Order: sequence, then structure tokens, then C-alpha cells
Amino acid sequence: MKFFLVAILFFPFFLFSQSVKVQVLGIAQDGGFPHAGCKKECCFSHLQHPEARKMVSCLGLKNEASNTAWMFEATPDFKFQQAILLEDKFNLKGIFLTHAHIGHYTGLMHLGREVMGAKQVPVFAMPRMVDFLKNNGPWSQLVSLENIVLQPLAANSPVALEEGITVTPILVPHRDEFSETVGYWVKGPNKQFLFIPDIDKWEKWDEDLINWLQKVDYAFLDATFFENKEVPGRDMSEIPHPFVVETMQKLENIPPSEKDKVYFIHFNHTNPVLQENSDARKLILKNGFHYAEEGMVFGL
Ligand SMILES: [Zn+2]
Ligand SMILES: [Zn+2]
Ligand SMILES: [Zn+2]
Repeated sequence: MKFFLVAILFFPFFLFSQSVKVQVLGIAQDGGFPHAGCKKECCFSHLQHPEARKMVSCLGLKNEASNTAWMFEATPDFKFQQAILLEDKFNLKGIFLTHAHIGHYTGLMHLGREVMGAKQVPVFAMPRMVDFLKNNGPWSQLVSLENIVLQPLAANSPVALEEGITVTPILVPHRDEFSETVGYWVKGPNKQFLFIPDIDKWEKWDEDLINWLQKVDYAFLDATFFENKEVPGRDMSEIPHPFVVETMQKLENIPPSEKDKVYFIHFNHTNPVLQENSDARKLILKNGFHYAEEGMVFGL
């Protein structure tokens, strides 16, 4: 009898505390994998085989207790990622955007009158990103027709989504032609994660990655390029990102339990981590880190 009373008393809390999850919906850089026009070995044979595709970097957040969900990024693969996340039972409560590069927001086009004709989907973005969407077609039409409702964010100010879930934008240095760039710090009832799909070198950030790893349980980090000289004939200083080997070196001396939190994401088509059985994949695992794969789910 006592057991049942205890079980009944705690059951809803137990259910709630296990119900919030983050799901990996895409792992590639803005152009996806394979890449348009790539005649190299990485993509050429895959370009005529869509089943080999990897979708653009995107995370989904969902609460199985309330059937609510949010997306981080609206990528060119939005149609698939939304369907995979929502499973026809979750309600999409909002989309958080990091910045105005094509892999991160152009999926919003599916919300417009040409496709879904969505009604007032909250789109959370920083002030320059909000202005960009308001003042440039075709995005401005999504705003005027109220397919989306822009929700301006402020750096370091948490947004409370539901009991026990907050999302905080963190500014990061990046090529900010059209908007500022943020990463997201997301707290669930029990665990939290950091999502930084695009950033210049770690040294240019006024935050300390090692401190962040102490704070969170999972970190999905920019792994656009594995190492220097990966894109022959292109000056890689024009496209600065922390190379995977640099990030691993920077984190070389942290405890294994901290390394275990790192999931590399946002792989360029040239990045060997996209290739199964590559030495790059093996090295990441050997060093105690992980690479994100579509379909991974983590409890929060
Ligand atoms: Zn990107
Ligand atoms: Zn390629
Ligand atoms: Zn970018």
C-alpha cells in the first residue's frame, strides 16, 4: 500500500523529469552533404544517390509530457527535420535561429503561403537577425502574413519555455555580414547542453570553452573542418573555424568525463568525419570525444 502511495505521488514528477529530450536532426555544414557542384571524391559519387545525404546541422528539443517541441535552426532540410522531430504528435512551439547564413534560416521558406501557410510560429532571433527577416523578402512576407511571429532575444537573457526548460543565446564571433551570431545554452529539468554550430577560432571568443564544458552535460561544437589544408586552393583564413584537431588539442588535458560531453557537428563536405570508417572518426573516439550523428537522442 505504502509503495503504491509513493509511486502515485512521484509518478508525474518521474515522468516529467524523463520527458525532455534533445535530438540530433542534422550534422552537415550549410550546403549539406553531398555538396552542390563538388566533383571530388567526397561527394561526386553521392550526388546521384540522395539516400547517402546528411542533413544540415539542426537540433530538436521536445517534451514528451506535454507533446511540445522546438527546433534549433531552420535549415534547407526543414521539411524532413520537422517531420522527424514532430512524429505527427508533437506541436512545434518555436524555432531558434543562430544567424543569417543560408544553412541556418532558409528553411523558414516552408512556413510561407507557397507551402505550409503556417500560423504564427514563434521564431526566436537576435535583434539584427530580426531586422534582417523583417526587411528582406521573401522573409518579410512571412512576417507580414503572420506565418511567423518574431521573438527578439537578448544575449545572455534566458527565455523560459516551460517549467524547467530555459534557452539562453550566447554571442559568438563569426562572419556577421547580415546578422550577429549566437550559440544556445539550453537547460532542461535535469541536464543542459551548449550548441555552437558556427564560430571563428576559440581564441576570438570572450568566453572560455573549458569553463562551459564544466557547466553543461553535452556540447555540440563547430567541426566544419577537420584540419588545415582541407580545402585545396582556398585560403582557409577567409573561412575561419576551429579545426577539429585544434579543438581536441585545446581540450587535451581536461578530464575524460569532460571530453565525453563533446559532440562535434556542422561538418563541411570535405570533412573526413562524414565518411564511415575514416581515420578522422577513429581519432575523435580514441581521444575521448564524439561526433554527432542524425537520430541521436539525449535526455535533459
Ligand atoms: Zn553554418
Ligand atoms: Zn565534396
Ligand atoms: Zn555561418
